[in-house]
Amino acid sequence: MATDKLLLDSIRDYVAQIREEGMDGLPRSDRQVAAAREAARPAPIVAKPAPQAVAPSAPAAAGIQLFAKYPGLDKTADLPALQTFIGNCTRCKLHGGRTNLVFGIGDPKAELMFVGEGPGADEDLKGEPFVGRAGQLLTDIIERGMGLRRGEVYICNVVKCRPPGNRNPEPDEVEACEPFLFRQIELVKPRVIVGLGTFAVQSVLKLKTPISKLRGSWHEVRGIKMMPTFHPAYLLRNPGDKRLVWSDIQEVMKFLGRPIPGRRS
Ligand code: URA
Repeated sequence: MATDKLLLDSIRDYVAQIREEGMDGLPRSDRQVAAAREAARPAPIVAKPAPQAVAPSAPAAAGIQLFAKYPGLDKTADLPALQTFIGNCTRCKLHGGRTNLVFGIGDPKAELMFVGEGPGADEDLKGEPFVGRAGQLLTDIIERGMGLRRGEVYICNVVKCRPPGNRNPEPDEVEACEPFLFRQIELVKPRVIVGLGTFAVQSVLKLKTPISKLRGSWHEVRGIKMMPTFHPAYLLRNPGDKRLVWSDIQEVMKFLGRPIPGRRS
């Protein structure tokens, strides 16, 4: 019985790791194979656009549609008003399994925002994002790595309720919940968003590119700079990649004009 659990845990870890790396190694469905073939076809030759410092964000029009889904959402004046607007949410099926809705925490005017995927078991129980083992590592990155206090940044997730068995949120769940994330972004107006892991980054940027290719370079979400990096849960399994996250975090610190702890300026 214990061996079965160990085996299950290690398979779950392995799949999570492959997912985190962008599913490059997972067998693909016929539809994915066809899409990959289509993507691999040589592009028609067109005039080269001027080089860009950051990757483009999703079209602004998409934002208007996002808010139209929930009339009044764009009028919420601040985070408490947004939280009241969300209320005891039943807009997607995740509500059935939650203990607490995990809205977000931190400085409502933070310069720096971290966005993860969705609450896990610890977060569901406490109603606060990133409080489990991965959360402890994120707190270490913020406090020991960046020299900031956890309360100085803003932390939230793409979906606000825990997906059962820690599975990835499903497209209908993301669709129901992401307008709230985008409103959070508009209200906090951070200077930088750090996207944590494949799922959060791909959902926010509307891309399918693996995190290993997205991390380390600047992107843009609704006019705000975004730095994708690996999820702390991935780092717990792959501590060797902490140096890559540290390099992403240093880019963020440079952009914010903050000193890098332990380094003489
Ligand atoms: N993982 C996430 O993506 N978010 C949390 O809040 C906790 C773990």
